Amino acid sequence: MMAELPLPVPSPDNQQFWDALTEGELRIQRCAACNTLRHPPRPMCPQCRSFDVEWVRMSGRGTVFSYIVTHQPIHPALVDRVPFATVIVELEEGPRLTTNLVDVSPAEITIGMPVEVVFQRASDEITLPLFRRSAGARVG
Ligand code: ZN
Repeated sequence: MMAELPLPVPSPDNQQFWDALTEGELRIQRCAACNTLRHPPRPMCPQCRSFDVEWVRMSGRGTVFSYIVTHQPIHPALVDRVPFATVIVELEEGPRLTTNLVDVSPAEITIGMPVEVVFQRASDEITLPLFRRSAGARVG
């Protein structure tokens, strides 16, 4: 059997992030006291130290902020996947997510490339927020 990549393990801090993805929504934590968005999810607001939290649906649109290309398979499940790019996407609302792009080879990635979220179901509990080139920005 082929090795499979380990999946994220939800914690009390990020359970709602994963639950929203399972429902097909990208929701990000927002401080209920000062409205600062933050990601990854954590208990306390870094701006005002409030523990009051709400979850806000994002548009799913963003741009490539940065990326790095991996050539060595650092896990048995990656042997057939190299080279692959790990990408930091900056959402139009501000927060940044570490993710992968689908249907874009590492050589095609550019900083500032418009992207939009796609939901890739990995298990009953985990749906991964991956990104693809935005429809309006597709190159022929
Ligand atoms: Zn705050």
